[in-house]
Amino acid sequence: MIYIDMDGVLTDFRKMIKNAFGKDLPADKNVKEILTDSEFRQLQEDESIWQFEETDFAQDILDIIGDTPFTIVSCVYGMNIASRKAKWLYYNGIFVPTIFIPVGTRKNTIIRPKFTELLIDDNWHEIKAWEGEYYHITEPFSKENFKRFIEDYKNAQ
Ligand SMILES: [Mg+2]
Repeated sequence: MIYIDMDGVLTDFRKMIKNAFGKDLPADKNVKEILTDSEFRQLQEDESIWQFEETDFAQDILDIIGDTPFTIVSCVYGMNIASRKAKWLYYNGIFVPTIFIPVGTRKNTIIRPKFTELLIDDNWHEIKAWEGEYYHITEPFSKENFKRFIEDYKNAQ
């Protein structure tokens, strides 16, 4: 199975945070670490903030993975945010199994991957904890590099 993270991989969460609060979100930090308590409450309660946009490379990732089955795995602060994310996936035609996990929980502890299972993620903490295969999304994204990696991964299965 291939597991794909959502924020920073398919959706541009950082851009959304920048637009809403004018703050930069480093790839290895979670949003709670950079927002004040009141900003964080606003993020949870104000649905108008949740305007996801695709990352520049989301479509490349989906095209390269092609018809190989995958699962979305995404951290959420609450059910209202899970619902927002589910809607985004739905309206973007991404109909695949989706796992929402509470922020602060590592994907590895929820999924317990076998060594051949692949995580595609932009967060080093998730990658380091993951016990399967991984691809770390860095910017600028290299379509060629990702394509080669996925071809090798598929060939090895
Ligand atoms: Mg991420």
